[in-house]
Amino acid sequence: MKCTRCRAVAAVALPRHNAGFCPDCFQVFFTRQVEKAIKDNLLFSKEDKILTALSGGKDSLALSRELKLLGYDIAGLHVDLAIPESSVQAREHVLNFCKIFEIPVHILDMDKECLPIPEIKKRISRPVCSMCGRIKRYYFNRFALENGFTVLATGHNLDDETARLFSNVLRWDQSYLGDQGPVLEARQGFVRKVKPLYRLSEYETANYCFITGINYCYTPCPYSKGASFTYYKSILDDLEHEQPGRKISFYEGFLRRAKKYFAEREDGRDTNLKPCPRCSYPTSAEICGVCRIRAMLSAG
Ligand code: SF4
Ligand SMILES: [Zn+2]
Ligand SMILES: [Zn+2]
Repeated sequence: MKCTRCRAVAAVALPRHNAGFCPDCFQVFFTRQVEKAIKDNLLFSKEDKILTALSGGKDSLALSRELKLLGYDIAGLHVDLAIPESSVQAREHVLNFCKIFEIPVHILDMDKECLPIPEIKKRISRPVCSMCGRIKRYYFNRFALENGFTVLATGHNLDDETARLFSNVLRWDQSYLGDQGPVLEARQGFVRKVKPLYRLSEYETANYCFITGINYCYTPCPYSKGASFTYYKSILDDLEHEQPGRKISFYEGFLRRAKKYFAEREDGRDTNLKPCPRCSYPTSAEICGVCRIRAMLSAG
C-alpha cells in the first residue's frame, strides 16, 4: 500500500478514511485531526492556560506532545493512585515524558491524601473504577481551579467516547447524554473540560506513540478486568471492522442531531449544587462523593 499523501510506502492503514500513511504523513494526519477538533469545537486558544490530565498511558502523552508542539500553554497533572506496580510505572513514564518534552508536571499522591485505591478496593465488593474515576475527576478539577488553569484537557479518544455514548444510550441516561461531547463548559465550581483526541482511535494514538518514540505505560491496572466499557469497546470494534467509519459517524451524528434533546437540563441538576461542608467541592448531596469515600475509609 502507498501513502495517500506522498506515495511512499504506507506504514499505517486507516480503512475509515480510505487512506494509508507513511510515518511522516501519519503525524501530519494526526495533527490535523487534533487541530480540526480544536477548531470545530472552539476548545481553547493560545491564551488559555491548559492543564492536561496525564495518566502515563498513550493517549494522555500523545495529547500533551501534540499540544506542546502546536504551541499551547500546557502543564500536566498526574494523580498517583498508589496501585502496586501500575501506579509506579505510570508515574515514571509521566516524569520521563515531561522531562523530554519540557512540560511542567505536577503530581498528587493519593497515599498522602489518604485515598489509596487498594484500600478502597478492600472495603467494597463491586468494581472500584467508579470511585477511582470520581477521585481523579475531583482532583483534576480542583487542582485546575486552584491553580488558575482555564481548561482541563483529557486524552479521551474516539473509542472511549463511543463506548461511553453506547453505554449512556443503553441506559438512556439523560443527564450523562446531555453532558457528553468534546467540550463541557465551565460552571460554578467546575473548570472547562475538553477532549481534543475525540476524532482519533486507540489504534491511531498507539501508532502515533510508536512512530514518535513516546514510551508509555503498558502495565494494566489490576482492577481493570471485567469493566463494562471494555466489553462495549469490543462490540464497537467488531462493528467498525465490518463498517469502517461507523464509530465517528455514531459519535458525530449524536453531537449534531441528538445531543440537543438531552442537553436541555437548564441546569436543573446544577441548581441543587452547594459546597461540600467538609471540602467545599460542589455537591448535591449532604457531603461530596470524595468525602464520603474518605468517611468510609476512616470508619474502617
Ligand atoms: S482501571 Fe479502574 S481502578 Fe484502575 S485506574 Fe482505571 S479507573 Fe482506576
Ligand atoms: Zn507519506
Ligand atoms: Zn467534600
